[in-house]
Formats: sequence, structure tokens, C-alpha cells
Amino acid sequence: MNDKPHFRFHPDAYEHQCFEESDEPCAACGRPCVWKYTNHIYALPPEPTAICARCIADGSVAKTVPEGDYSLHDCSFDEEPSDALAAEVEQRTPGFSTYNPFVWPVRDGAPLAFLGFGEDDNLLRLPQVQAAIAVLAEEMGGGVAPNYAMIFRTLEGDEYVATLDLD
Ligand SMILES: [Zn+2]
Repeated sequence: MNDKPHFRFHPDAYEHQCFEESDEPCAACGRPCVWKYTNHIYALPPEPTAICARCIADGSVAKTVPEGDYSLHDCSFDEEPSDALAAEVEQRTPGFSTYNPFVWPVRDGAPLAFLGFGEDDNLLRLPQVQAAIAVLAEEMGGGVAPNYAMIFRTLEGDEYVATLDLD
């Protein structure tokens, strides 16, 4: 497998520092990581020492955690996706730092892709992102600071949704 796999539900995972370059051996495949995962793995202890991007992408993390049970996110879904897509998001999509458990939006059975936080200039300059944050602010009954807004987009790329990461 490619040492730097693409993650369709978190397309900018490398730019978001989910991985760092490292030749440390991966706990799942035993090969040098090349791209070592930097975020938390939610599982019973002990946490695996190092996991590579390849083993995040193919779910081999399961070999390194008790009972093979883990998630890369502290999230719930706002609609129930199919089991296969839920597993792809929870176990084969790199996580990111949030203050609290958050809601991962789902539309028509498909989870959306996480693009980043609203404070990212590349996102905030998009009118669709500004509109999504405005919808969120209306739902919350007030203003929402962009850095607390998590921005998602449908895989087809035509709908944006913002959810809130409260501190
Ligand atoms: Zn590996």
C-alpha cells in the first residue's frame, strides 16, 4: 500500500498534522511508519506505541488493541450511517483534536468529510462555509466563533455543514 494513503472523510489529514514523518516501526505492520499517526486512539490500554498511515487506512490498528476494539474519534453521528461507512469513519479516518465529544454529520446515510475548523482562512473565505457557520449560529441562538466551528462537506462536494466543538 501507498505510504501516504488518502482519507476521503478527512482529505487534509496530513496538512492537519495527524501524521509526522518517522521511521519508527509500526506496532501493527512492523515496517517503518514513514507517516506516523500523532492523535489519540480510543481503546483499552495499553495504547499502541506507533501506528502508520497505511494501518490507519486499512484498519490494521485492530491488531494492536485489546479485542480489536477502538475508535479514532470521540464522536457520535446525527443520523445513523451504514455499518460499513460508520466503521470507515470511526476506525479508518484520522482523528483531530477537539475539546469535547462532537457530532459527525450524516446526510442520506453517508457521513460528510471533515475539512477543518472554521478559523482556517482557506475555509472561511468560502461563502458556503460562511453560510454553514451562519446556520449553526442560528441553531445555537447566537454568534459562533469560527474556531469552534467544525466544517464538513458531502463527498459529492455540494453541501456544507458546520457543527460545534464547545470548550
Ligand atoms: Zn503499519
